[in-house]
Amino acid sequence: MLVLASCGNGSDGPAAAPVTCAEIPNGDLIGAESVSAAPTDIATKPEIASGYRSGMKPVVTATYAVATANPLATRAACDVLHDGGTAADALVAAQMVLGLVEPQSSGIGGGAFALYYDAASKTVRAFDGRETAPAAATETYLIRISPTDPAPPVPSARASGRSIGIPGVMRMLGMVHGEYGKHAWRDLFTPAISLADSGFEISQRLSGAIAAAAADLEADVDARDHFLTGEGAAKPAGTNLANPAYAKTLGVLATDGADAMYDGPLAQAIVAEAGTTAGGMTPSLMTVDDLRNYRAIARDPVVTEYRGRQIVAMPGPSSGGIAVASALGILENFDLPSMPPTELDGSTPSAADGGRPNPTAVHLITEAERLAYADRDKYVADPDFVPLPGRGVDTILDPGYLKTRAGLIRPDASLGEAPAGDLGPVPLGSHPGTEYGTSHITVADRYGNVASMTTTIESAFGSFHMVDGFLLNNQLTDFSAEPRDDDGALLANRVSPGKRPRSSMAPTLVMQPGTGGAPAQVIAALGSPGGSVIIQFVVKTLVGMLDWGLNPQQAVSMIDFGSANTPTSNVGGEHPLVDTTDDGAHDPLVRGLRERGEEVSVDEQSSGLSAIMRHEAGWIGGADPRREGAVMGDDAALR
Ligand code: GLU
Repeated sequence: MLVLASCGNGSDGPAAAPVTCAEIPNGDLIGAESVSAAPTDIATKPEIASGYRSGMKPVVTATYAVATANPLATRAACDVLHDGGTAADALVAAQMVLGLVEPQSSGIGGGAFALYYDAASKTVRAFDGRETAPAAATETYLIRISPTDPAPPVPSARASGRSIGIPGVMRMLGMVHGEYGKHAWRDLFTPAISLADSGFEISQRLSGAIAAAAADLEADVDARDHFLTGEGAAKPAGTNLANPAYAKTLGVLATDGADAMYDGPLAQAIVAEAGTTAGGMTPSLMTVDDLRNYRAIARDPVVTEYRGRQIVAMPGPSSGGIAVASALGILENFDLPSMPPTELDGSTPSAADGGRPNPTAVHLITEAERLAYADRDKYVADPDFVPLPGRGVDTILDPGYLKTRAGLIRPDASLGEAPAGDLGPVPLGSHPGTEYGTSHITVADRYGNVASMTTTIESAFGSFHMVDGFLLNNQLTDFSAEPRDDDGALLANRVSPGKRPRSSMAPTLVMQPGTGGAPAQVIAALGSPGGSVIIQFVVKTLVGMLDWGLNPQQAVSMIDFGSANTPTSNVGGEHPLVDTTDDGAHDPLVRGLRERGEEVSVDEQSSGLSAIMRHEAGWIGGADPRREGAVMGDDAALR
């Protein structure tokens, strides 16, 4: 059982008062409001394969709030906020714990994107900690051992050193903390260091992820020793897992700063691990100079309007923000608010789980996403290498242009595969595939700062290369492996030295413009893992909150639906309101979409959303029932 200290109320409430954090019977940790609903709702529902927690209630907090994909990380960040830390401080504390307790999804060997609203200057900045390709990478780096040796990397592009990008998250966090941190950098590592020393209980999700990757983890000595039993099986849930090597690494980073990752012994260890040729492995061509030269970048966020609100999104090299804004710009032309889900009345599990979405609305959203993905696939790559066409973001997200795109949607038929718009001559880019190694952190502090950060090592357990207690990413597989399309044209998202692979991560803020010259206020923050499907998860949640008045928990819990630009539309079969028998033939939403010409898959969806929103008491937040996340903060009831 996990034993928790409390993350109490803020400085403006009574000291040492009751708390919002609590433990519920199944060992998952969610907020106090959830506790009242949990025993009956969770205990009586059959366990669905993905572990969907039905009936989760939102958590209401007073002045600060944090949501992450793991209760121990949420707790560490919440304690920082309780002690007067900023959202920047909380991001650092949460990331260090996530790298320990959810190592399959993110860590210091990976990259991240963050949006940060700074209450003092009333501005949002976008921070890019995306991995880069080594200076020695050629455009066939992922498919050939060398320009003169056409053999593919061994054992595969992903599991060899070729997939490993120069890690960016530490430089990015160093930058964010340097600008907006209040607590001493080194103190933010303490919770993760003590947990790494004492160990934590392996969760069901982590144990399952280890089991699924056991054969690949076996090939790396450090990964094998850390994650597998002597017999080569996954360490089971409930096992106490310490990570002394990680504690030591964090000690160095705490003392010497983020720079310790980019020069000196740690940098040399990363280069040696990425360059291993053990077992015939094809090595990375990364050098210590690549690490030394790595820069996080502060960029201008993408800002668009949606029904009177500002959507503030991540710019390139993530395609996520642009695609979310594009889909919403198309949807602005339809009356979605008149098509809310049904079964939203009362406090039934159906209402808590987001109700039953209206098939007409889902069809429109899904078609808008097809159109948005078509443009994203064609035009978006690292903007420092391949600029967007025309006037950039203003061209691809121009409301008039998106209105013409909306005109392509038919109420009774599917576009199947939508064409990209003709925005000018740029190379094509394409990136099919699903990824799973990612996490999302959402934070609001007592000073009014708000952060939304998506962090990743790309696929589960990244490249399976482990060094000094952490895993190295396989982010370079987000590049197009082939540099040219079938007609021989160069692809926008091909590998180049120093380039950042296109991402789909979409940390997002929503702002309410002020009246009479007053500055805009952040009213919501959210994001999710899920690879290219992130775009669908984020659009669903935004429409749920902004058009249908769902609270963040309902919007996050609601059925996951949408489509990348393929004939297949997703309706997440893990949700208790989706009837998956006979491939969904009896489910009203699935039938409604099929009647409109969509090919529907009811495969489980693996979002890991978290969202917070302004509330009369302060903040209200939700964590994805499909993962083990938790929202915590100070107690709104004491305000
Ligand atoms: N590597 C992916 C991206 O940057 C994220 C992977 C995931 O969400 O699992 O878009």
